[in-house]
Amino acid sequence: MTTDPKSMSCEEFQEQLAELIGTGADAASHPHVQSCERCRALLSDLQTIAEAARQLFPVQQPEDDLWERIESAIKEEEEDSAPHD
Ligand SMILES: [Zn+2]
Repeated sequence: MTTDPKSMSCEEFQEQLAELIGTGADAASHPHVQSCERCRALLSDLQTIAEAARQLFPVQQPEDDLWERIESAIKEEEEDSAPHD
């Protein structure tokens, strides 16, 4: 039995919603969201929450620039202490 995305119930859609968001799929383009105002509102709420969560718990990702500075600082340190030959 296959479920037509357009005729699925809000409950069915909401069961898939977390997975849709989790996989990075564009949940807003889901046929059910297109035809259901309630789920559209729910989705925008969730996206607001997800956005806020990203700001509260940012992914720890050093900037490339930062790594370059650390790397060059380490190299300078090595060059200073190691005898040149
Ligand atoms: Zn709905």
